[in-house]
Amino acid sequence: MDTYLDIRTLSVVTVLLCFSYFIGLLLLQRIQEPISGLNLLAAALLLLGIGILILGTSNTSSPLNGMLANSLIGLSYTFLVHGISRFRKTPFDYSKLSYIALPIVILFIAYFSYMSPSENARIISMSIYILFCTGLAIFANTLGNAEDLKPARFILTVGLSIEGCFILFEILWRAITTGTGAVESALIIHQIALISIILMIILLGFSITWMITGRLVASMYDSSIRDGLTGLYNRRALEELAPKEMARAQRHNDHLSILLIDIDAFKKINDTYGHQVGDSVLRKAAKLIQHATRKEDISFRYGGEEFLVILPATSLDQAALAAAKLRRLIASANLLPSNVDQCTASFGAAQFNLNDGWEKLVDRADKALYMAKDSGRNTVFVSESANCYQFEDRLKGQESAEGHTVN
Ligand code: GH3
Ligand code: MG
Ligand code: MG
Repeated sequence: MDTYLDIRTLSVVTVLLCFSYFIGLLLLQRIQEPISGLNLLAAALLLLGIGILILGTSNTSSPLNGMLANSLIGLSYTFLVHGISRFRKTPFDYSKLSYIALPIVILFIAYFSYMSPSENARIISMSIYILFCTGLAIFANTLGNAEDLKPARFILTVGLSIEGCFILFEILWRAITTGTGAVESALIIHQIALISIILMIILLGFSITWMITGRLVASMYDSSIRDGLTGLYNRRALEELAPKEMARAQRHNDHLSILLIDIDAFKKINDTYGHQVGDSVLRKAAKLIQHATRKEDISFRYGGEEFLVILPATSLDQAALAAAKLRRLIASANLLPSNVDQCTASFGAAQFNLNDGWEKLVDRADKALYMAKDSGRNTVFVSESANCYQFEDRLKGQESAEGHTVN
């Protein structure tokens, strides 16, 4: 190979890329909620850029410049591991290992700069450290708990692997060719080194911004299907989830029931205690409903002070029992600021049958709820075929004894 890519141009491109990604990541932190790990990644790119700048512009034979540049580059890879560990929320912070190893590597570089000068030994020491850090960064990316997009995670691993593979190749090459002074090969190695760093930076920046966008879309979707006050799913989510649950029940020939829950005399609660207390009652009731039902049950805020719970794989009897338990919990919980008044709820339960659609199912639960209200509230009514019946008598007097408190 008799033509080489110009090393100086490659160095300038690498430095510019480092600095522009550094600024880009910092701006990203400023225009939205700060993201854990992003400042560290920005700092890593800044230090890498400065390190390459010193190597590319200063007198390379000066041991002090070499020491400074290598220390900055070493620290930049340490920050890279730390940043990726934080960004991907790894259970173990892998950067602890790289922080421990960094001073040792700097000592080695100092030794090969002043005590027993050897450029090859210096580069090999630094390369082993960079290989160690890229390996840790790949681990952190793979084992992180943050729910990021798979292709974006894969691209980050590819970027880090390209750098890791090159560094491994360089270590082996330098170990084999010591003392032979293969200047031409050294030039090729140098240009590949810069190209692999350029690739790593591009893929790192691309994958990180892709993951951030993915997180943003996920959180926007989540807030679009959740009720802001109670945190339960809203009507929009119900429109998506109800057909899925019915289809599942149909496919597996399984039971499916629903509960409609309405807080009793809620208007009076608002009038007596104010809307703030009313809102807090709704939040506490929602918490109770969510905690007292099974994991696979899905709770929705259906309207103002109305809730709907989908109970998969649940027969009408089981649904009525769940409703009775919830009714007692709500009645005995101290949802109001005063012990004089009691907050209660009425329940309508209905079971899905294959001939009816969703509307008919909700209609039947609504009729049962209406009858619960009509019969004096704070009770459970069940809709069976064309009839509704009261599932349990109100257990008056027992409720206050249970004394649940919801915070
Ligand atoms: P019933 O026992 O028959 O259900 O009577 P109720 O007073 O509970 O029912 P009604 O439908 O008459 O009143 C419901 C009230 O709920 C009226 C409305 O102002 C209030 N409400 C609806 N949404 C909210 C909310 O988000 N916060 C508060 N504080 N009140 C709400
Ligand atoms: Mg109502
Ligand atoms: Mg009500």
